[in-house]
Amino acid sequence: MTYDPANIFAKILAGDLPCHKVHEDETALVMMDIFPQSKGHTLVIPKAASRNLLDADPKALAAVMPLVQRVARAVKAATNADGIRLAQFNEAPAGQTVFHLHFHIIPAYEGVALGTHGGGKADDAELAALARDIAAKL
Ligand code: 5GP
Repeated sequence: MTYDPANIFAKILAGDLPCHKVHEDETALVMMDIFPQSKGHTLVIPKAASRNLLDADPKALAAVMPLVQRVARAVKAATNADGIRLAQFNEAPAGQTVFHLHFHIIPAYEGVALGTHGGGKADDAELAALARDIAAKL
């Protein structure tokens, strides 16, 4: 399996498609998932091109994990979530739908079931507000 540079996250990284951006640095882009599994579902997308974990450069993984932790903490603080699920899918049979490596940071709320993976689209104004709130906690 090879990396397809026309994937949707590559287009977002290139600025050719919009996103609700939380943060960007030389390592990664952080944005809201537009089909969230819970309120505050955030994606960390390393800039280094790889399909997923399996073909990623270990150096790129090492560079991005501290940011994944920072964002997880910020999402928890901004949403008052009771827990955080970290998810990452590798190839379609495992649930991957966008073939550029990314980490899901999914808030979990006591007594609230998580939505389905790839469920309904969230309201843009709500996503914009969440992106601002999470950025403020980074
Ligand atoms: P995967 O299934 O590949 O692990 O996750 C892809 C994620 O990207 C899904 O959770 C899906 O909701 C999200 N997604 C798909 N298209 C877009 C998009 O255009 N913008 C954003 N922000 N998220 C997207």
